Amino acid sequence: MIAQAPFRLHRFHGGLHLDDRKALSTGTPIAEVPLPPLMVLPLTQHIGGAAKPCVQVGDRVRRGQTVAHAQGVVSSPVHAPTSGRITAIEARPVPHPSGLSADCLVLEPDGRDQPLDTPEWAPLPDFAAATPAQIRDIARAAGIVGLGGAAFPSAIKLNPGRVVDTLIINGAECEPYISCDQMLMTEQADEVVLGIQVVLHALAAPRCLVGIEDNKPEAIRAMSRAAEHDARISVVVVPTRYPQGGEKQLIQTLTGLEVPSEGLPLDLGIVCHNPGTVRAVGRAVCFAEPLIERIITVTGEAIAQPCNLRVRLGTLMSHLVAQAGGFTDTPGRVLMGGPMMGFALPALEVPVIKATNCVLALAPEQVRPTPEAQPCIRCGECVTVCPARLLPQQLYWHARAREFEAAEDLNLFDCIECGCCAMVCPSHIPLVQYYRFAKTEIHAAEAEKRLADAARQRHEARLARIEREERAKEEARARKKAALAAKTSAPSASPATPPPAATPAPAPTSAPAPAAADDPVAVAMARAQARRAANNAVPAPASVEPADGDGDGKPASAPPAQANSAEDDPVAKAIAAAKARKAARAADVPSPSEPSAEADDPVARAMAAAKARKAAKVASATPADDDDPVAKAIAAAKARKAARDAAGNAPQ
Ligand code: SF4
Ligand code: SF4
Repeated sequence: MIAQAPFRLHRFHGGLHLDDRKALSTGTPIAEVPLPPLMVLPLTQHIGGAAKPCVQVGDRVRRGQTVAHAQGVVSSPVHAPTSGRITAIEARPVPHPSGLSADCLVLEPDGRDQPLDTPEWAPLPDFAAATPAQIRDIARAAGIVGLGGAAFPSAIKLNPGRVVDTLIINGAECEPYISCDQMLMTEQADEVVLGIQVVLHALAAPRCLVGIEDNKPEAIRAMSRAAEHDARISVVVVPTRYPQGGEKQLIQTLTGLEVPSEGLPLDLGIVCHNPGTVRAVGRAVCFAEPLIERIITVTGEAIAQPCNLRVRLGTLMSHLVAQAGGFTDTPGRVLMGGPMMGFALPALEVPVIKATNCVLALAPEQVRPTPEAQPCIRCGECVTVCPARLLPQQLYWHARAREFEAAEDLNLFDCIECGCCAMVCPSHIPLVQYYRFAKTEIHAAEAEKRLADAARQRHEARLARIEREERAKEEARARKKAALAAKTSAPSASPATPPPAATPAPAPTSAPAPAAADDPVAVAMARAQARRAANNAVPAPASVEPADGDGDGKPASAPPAQANSAEDDPVAKAIAAAKARKAARAADVPSPSEPSAEADDPVARAMAAAKARKAAKVASATPADDDDPVAKAIAAAKARKAARDAAGNAPQ
């Protein structure tokens, strides 16, 4: 139904009244374009990640078959627009302002246009029984994106995650020349309304406002007729003023609400869709049709028969132009989109993609050479017409000076690139180009920062992992060490407290056991001291005093000179050390002749130990004893050796 008074409209700031030139292409019904001999399917026809091919060169495909899967949440699959054979997967020129090539699937139609035997999902003609999730999944599987030009994946907008109280259908189509939405609403209003009902169900929204500019009376009538049985849907006629079709501008016109800077319509409980988009959702849900075609306006003063065409995606634009009767003259410029927001096509051998709404060929006389830009005179005209309430001249200064942060502070990203400011600028400054440049630079810097952040996080994660591993190794080492210590301490504890039977009994059999002999610690200490003394005694100093070296109580009588000779002789030293050890052993076990008085008295025991130590020291310095047969034998051996050496050294 047409919204009746008192439906209050509002006004957005700025804007321009432009010559719409839509009548050029609305005189004939939408025409079907025959299948072309070659189709090119870019893997990126949408905002977001490129789709990934799931077919190989040489594969035969059917109409509606998925040929490239979506990658990630913000992405969209690509389907075969007709049956045929994949002949290449390669970079081809695509319609983009950069003029660069991109990866594409090349399809050679077989002319039979065979659909899949079974659609890739089941149709849900009774969509009211479907869940919102089912509808979203189908919209994603069908590869539906915003057909108004933004090409944002629709499944995301069907999954808002919060309450939506108004669905707005943007039928304003404010850009001059373009009439595809107008013709769609005029000729296929029922399908558009079906799509609206499906989307309303998915969003659980209570109402829908269809905004149509008042220069499209046929579309207004057709849509009102189609929607009259559904009280939730209201067709609202809005004034013709560029850019009425801007999402934020139409929302303001219809509701009086302003979408906050850097915000979304969803922040106001509003979701916006294009008429072609909702129709595609309706067809996908109710008839299991993927997005493989769209309506495109082929128009302009340089086109022989301007018209609207139903075109399979992937068709080359040269094919469209041929269907529209070709050029009347060499065009001054061919654009994809309208004269305000479109961009020049480098060639016609680029394919139609999901975002293509118009091919506009301007006559040479319409394309005047751009006058040279003059300095800004601060007239403020650009501010007056800016629908986003920005300061275009300030943005221009900052963009030109590469002061991107300052431009961002002035809400650069609220600029919808409508071109109103550039159109009225008396200095002919290409303002929008400066804004696009600044946005691109900011995006590039952000992408670089994201990469750097990711690299830093990877590095930090690596360091943390290495630290974790080192800690684990350290703990394992400590555990192993503790286990080893526990194992070794078990046997060493028993000698420290030897059982009484194992203790060498120092006590004489005839006398009562001395207290010192009962103290194993004292005994062990004395023994250890004696051993240490014996070890230390080996390199005995030559000046050591004569002592009772053999433990027999007699002082050693050898002079220091002899001690030196003993020191030099390792055999003698070994013998002396053995004697010292013997003395130490003697110190450990009290003699029966030194009875209980010493054993009982710790002082006496200590003195005995000291004596033993002294004896050991002296012993090491004591020369071979004449009475000692071993020493004597060694001395004889030494003499023999000396005689041999002397003989060996004699002159020949
Ligand atoms: S319209 Fe042009 S000359 Fe006037 S203020 Fe804006 S940028 Fe400067
Ligand atoms: S292009 Fe941007 S700055 Fe210029 S009028 Fe449009 S919204 Fe405003």
